Amino acid sequence: MNPRSPAYRGRLAPSPTGLLHLGHARTFWTAAERAAQHDGQLILRNEDLDFQRCRPEFVHAMLGDLRWLGIEWAEGPDCGGVFGPYSQSERRGHYLEAWEKLRDRGLIYPCTCSRKDVAQAASAPNDSDDEAVYSGKCRPQGKERSFAPPGRVEDPAPHKHPEAAVATCSEPRGTNWRFLVPDGEEVCFTDLHLGPQRMTAGRDFGDFIVWRRDDVPAYQLAVVVDDAAMRITEVVRGADLLKSTARQILLFRALGLPTPGYYHCDLVRDEAGVRLAKRHDSLSIRKLREMGWTPKAVVSGQ
Ligand code: GLU
Repeated sequence: MNPRSPAYRGRLAPSPTGLLHLGHARTFWTAAERAAQHDGQLILRNEDLDFQRCRPEFVHAMLGDLRWLGIEWAEGPDCGGVFGPYSQSERRGHYLEAWEKLRDRGLIYPCTCSRKDVAQAASAPNDSDDEAVYSGKCRPQGKERSFAPPGRVEDPAPHKHPEAAVATCSEPRGTNWRFLVPDGEEVCFTDLHLGPQRMTAGRDFGDFIVWRRDDVPAYQLAVVVDDAAMRITEVVRGADLLKSTARQILLFRALGLPTPGYYHCDLVRDEAGVRLAKRHDSLSIRKLREMGWTPKAVVSGQ
């Protein structure tokens, strides 16, 4: 490792919305291997913002499954550490600070549109449920979209939103908040596994939710704030989050925070080619354990 680069800090960031499956096992194992190769450390973060879907028994199960796989972490909700707390539900103050910064910089705006992506914003999006490109209906005056969003346009007529009102909001509660993406700007990064990536703001993804009206910070904001606060140098996660990485790079920049490196793992699919999800109970680590699989077989398929 370059002696001047900061010590490697990777993270495992499961959401306790169900049992971890074979895909998680392989991704987390890759994260553990990369941390070991770099003589670095792993941090475990419990991504439990989505209070409607997260359950304490899944937190318990994920800790047990990760230990059974032989993965070790130096900081986490079970063992503490200097950058704690390590459960997102206990980190509201950090997210609020970031929300205030974005508000003061004029980079977020209140949005009254009610859409499916708003409801889902507390969780990481996957291929099939990635946030649709937003029409721009609630964008502040003078910041109307510079080109039409691809696909179906919902609510195309812009309605007026006095910018002065944005600056005077002292808290996010009561309305949804969106990050204003720089339309047409290319976000490029070199993925350490998949190579060069290029996405265009406003085309590949639009203004995304950073805070929900029911006062829940969105996944995109929380993950950026936490990766920076926990000094994460490399993010290892599934390739279904590639577009989210482009969104997050914009947020890191907007908040003046350093961007980590990215390594997106290939997705594990079932026999029908469908990406594994927590609904694939038969491929949960729990089930495979019960069926007599060894940790080695789970992480390597052999
Ligand atoms: N908590 C997210 C999930 O379980 C992962 C987020 C990330 O790695 O950035 O899907």
